[in-house]
Amino acid sequence: MSDAPSTSTLQWGTPLQPQGKRLLLLGSGELGREVTLEAMRLGIEVIAADAYAHAPAMQIAHRSHVIDMFDGAQLRSLVLAEKPDWIVPEIEAIATDTLQALETEGWRVIPTARATQLTMNREGIRRLAAEELGLKTSPYRFAHTKAEYEAAIAELGLPCVVKPIMSSSGKGQTMVRSDYQIQQAWDYAQAGGRKQGTSVIVEGFVAFDTEITLLTVRAVDGTFFCPPIGHVQVDGDYRESWQPCNLSTQTRQKCETIAGKITDALGGWGIFGVELFIEGDPAGEQTVYFSEVSPRPHDTGMVTMISQICSEFELHARAILGLPIGEIQLIGPGASAVILAEGVSDTPTFTGMAEALQVPTSKLRLFGKPTCRPKRRMGVALALGTTTDEARQRAHACAERVKVH
Ligand code: AMP
Repeated sequence: MSDAPSTSTLQWGTPLQPQGKRLLLLGSGELGREVTLEAMRLGIEVIAADAYAHAPAMQIAHRSHVIDMFDGAQLRSLVLAEKPDWIVPEIEAIATDTLQALETEGWRVIPTARATQLTMNREGIRRLAAEELGLKTSPYRFAHTKAEYEAAIAELGLPCVVKPIMSSSGKGQTMVRSDYQIQQAWDYAQAGGRKQGTSVIVEGFVAFDTEITLLTVRAVDGTFFCPPIGHVQVDGDYRESWQPCNLSTQTRQKCETIAGKITDALGGWGIFGVELFIEGDPAGEQTVYFSEVSPRPHDTGMVTMISQICSEFELHARAILGLPIGEIQLIGPGASAVILAEGVSDTPTFTGMAEALQVPTSKLRLFGKPTCRPKRRMGVALALGTTTDEARQRAHACAERVKVH
């Protein structure tokens, strides 16, 4: 634990009054909603922005705006109108060059404009991690044309993983196991990337034993690591997570060293979700691969709403505001399981909540998204247990009972 620094210079007024401090959230999904709540609990005025009306965080923020955050001019006029003390990106799809310019003009971007720029594009963060910092990653090639893509696959061999360089939640991603999938994976990446006609990253497949998220907080009193979070992904999208994911002391230290290096390189204050693959026998020497980092709360970290005294959202809010972290404490083994929509609707309804909450220790979070489509994440179930296995079973049982119609 670090010594608490002097925080006597911190001061803020009341929301909606001239001395109040304003936080502008760019992206108003379920993670942003929790950041909004935590910032509001600390007396901060929150303005939520997203591309559609009634997004989860907008439903509780002091004000909201619907803008195209990829449009630099719209983003700039919003910042000039709201004059926020902190600009807090919640998603990757933002005009990061505008954020960079705004930061140069003196606006505060969380954690830094450069971090948002490097992580919105898989090429930026992979080259920083592997080529500048020398972190171990899967073997990879970037391909900007079909011919480069075919050459990359020939070099790396199968199986491999193909991803658009700008995408998230598994969109446009394929695990290519045989030759006939090569063309399909290219076409799917072109359609699924954030920009049509996208470049791709081809990654050698890592036969990892465990994948974890190491939540890392950079704050006024130093860098802190949460206990590792294990998770399961299906089609590149998270389905369940649990904390703690038990690792040997040596492996945990390797994970923290990697997370420390990458978050130091990105800089600023806030929480980061560092995604790592762990390969090898837990009783022996394990290899840790850096996969990705988000300079913001991580979806797998929703488990911390039940398993930690301060959730990842509260830690993020504290770090942003310049408050100390002190120590991160686990309440006990916990788990999260997602609640997905099956069909398309602009009037989704939910049933089964009463049955779901009969599961011991369980909690439900329904995000209030105004529309649904197949596989859209509409809520999450949380539970504690005497072991993570028990917590996982409970979270799963709770999530399963909620139906989205
Ligand atoms: P990403 O969008 O890069 O986080 O990838 C989503 C998920 O796909 C990861 O959490 C892994 O489960 C899987 N994945 C991605 N890249 C690889 C890889 N090179 N080898 C094995 N699995 C991968």
